[in-house]
Amino acid sequence: MKMTAPAEYRTNATPLNLPEIAPSQIHSIMLGRVLSIGNSSQIAMLIAAALIGFGVIGIGNEKLMWILIAVQAVLQRVVAAVNRMLQRKLDAHQPDRFPFALFVFLKGLTGAVWGLMMLPVVAHLGSGPGPLLICVTLIVTITISAMLTTAVWSISVAAITGFFLTLFPQTVYFYDVLGPVPLVVALVLSPTLIWITREQSKQVRSALVNELQNERLALHLEDALQQSDYLAKHDSLTGLLNRRAFQSKLQTLRHEQPEAAISLILIDLDHFKKINDNFGHETGDAVLVSTADIIDSVTRPDDLSARCDEATARWGGEEFIIALVGCPLEAAASVSERLRVRIAGQADPQWPEGLSVTGSFGVSLWDHQEDLAVGIAQADKAMYRAKISGRNQVELAPR
Ligand code: GH3
Ligand code: MG
Ligand code: MG
Repeated sequence: MKMTAPAEYRTNATPLNLPEIAPSQIHSIMLGRVLSIGNSSQIAMLIAAALIGFGVIGIGNEKLMWILIAVQAVLQRVVAAVNRMLQRKLDAHQPDRFPFALFVFLKGLTGAVWGLMMLPVVAHLGSGPGPLLICVTLIVTITISAMLTTAVWSISVAAITGFFLTLFPQTVYFYDVLGPVPLVVALVLSPTLIWITREQSKQVRSALVNELQNERLALHLEDALQQSDYLAKHDSLTGLLNRRAFQSKLQTLRHEQPEAAISLILIDLDHFKKINDNFGHETGDAVLVSTADIIDSVTRPDDLSARCDEATARWGGEEFIIALVGCPLEAAASVSERLRVRIAGQADPQWPEGLSVTGSFGVSLWDHQEDLAVGIAQADKAMYRAKISGRNQVELAPR
């Protein structure tokens, strides 16, 4: 089987022009992702705060530290509440500007409190590993906090800035005790963190854009496949099944109901060439479409006394075929008669005067032990008899 498109299709193919993904859509998805991890990261933050609280025992201003931890804990609860509120707004596609601004501000405030938590031990930084460990824990905590929100960079920037704004003055104020190292560390740490989160943010963003583009591409592809599948199975003029799809549908129906009576009705429009010659090819096309519509409507199961599954196709130029599953020959004959009358009676105000349409019908019963081609050949023979007996009539194949 040929798997690639012919060369002329490939050279003529134009690149897909999918619409740009709106920045607001990207922002909403990224914010949604940040918020979804927001609540679980709260626990890690509170554990860090508790560790710092116990770490300070005996090496600094414990009371101040526990006050700051309590403030941090309250702030984390408020952040969690705003987090949930923002999530609800996002889910409901409601404007989220105010809660978002509040969220960013609160994140900045938590950063500031993390920075303030250096205060109870900052004067003792040079005196042993305890204060240093607390300092490292604080830096790690703010780093993790900023990294968790890189998808929306402004949140990370707010947390880092808050941290810097309370940490930096301490390194200046205690310069005499601490020397230049903490001051330099504070000065280098914040821009570095901001730069790292910026890079991370860009990566997350481009991964998301790729993800969204792939989703769109997949949808586009699915649409195109459905369209090409439809075109491969249907006749482009009448919308009925084409010959190949009809045969395949009938094989499926036969497989599902191996013993069922399947009647076949073959219809050939009478003197169709004359319709073309006298009224033009376009009128001929219009007659084919109108006849196909009648065939399609009359063979609907509702229209029959007995329930019949149906398959209707354009068999060739001006030939149509109908299969009625679970329908004996007599019932198929009466469907044919009804169809014959409707086809002969069809009229359209747009059509030229003097145009009349009739069809000759051949009806057979497809024996489940025979090939479909045998059943169709029998219907064809019966239809031929209808032609030579004067057209515009229904003939049954002998059983
Ligand atoms: P008979 O009663 O014996 O069937 O005569 P007929 O003229 O219908 O049969 P014939 O086989 O001689 O001619 C069929 C005509 O159908 C010839 C062809 O140009 C026309 N035809 C086939 N496909 C189309 C189509 O898609 N559109 C139009 N307008 N005409 C078509
Ligand atoms: Mg014909
Ligand atoms: Mg014909």
